[in-house]
Amino acid sequence: GLKKKEVHVLCLGLDNSGKTTIINKLKPSNAQTQDIVPTIGFTCLSQCLICQVKGDTETSGNITTNIKHRRLPILFFANKMDLRDAISSVKVSQLLSLENIKDKPWHICASDALKGEGLQEGVDWLQGISY
Ligand code: GDP
Repeated sequence: GLKKKEVHVLCLGLDNSGKTTIINKLKPSNAQTQDIVPTIGFTCLSQCLICQVKGDTETSGNITTNIKHRRLPILFFANKMDLRDAISSVKVSQLLSLENIKDKPWHICASDALKGEGLQEGVDWLQGISY
């Protein structure tokens, strides 16, 4: 049968960019919440790490060293694509010079976290990466 593998995902981004909404939408529908305060599991871990990256230099240094030296895949969400003045994911990747990332697999998806559009494409990509 299918084997489940536990993975840790670090979710980083600007305030208000939609991280909590994305994480919430990725949970099974019966576990989704309107609460912005995370409670358990995946959300909790991600949110803890986000706080640490922002607030605790020592931990954030650990974390970033770990990211730098491992071939961890990076998934970018160009979120809020539903907004009228949203720029395309191609344009976002040009602006961020993502083509310069040569030492890690990366992928960018346009997403609308409110409707849940584009999120599954990103998760499918992550699941297909073997690392
Ligand atoms: P976080 O600070 O990165 O965790 O951002 P939140 O998940 O709290 O989202 C910030 C605001 O953006 C909330 O009002 C969300 O409803 C809204 N938001 C999140 N994703 C989208 C999106 O894809 N489209 C639009 N229009 N709004 C979004």
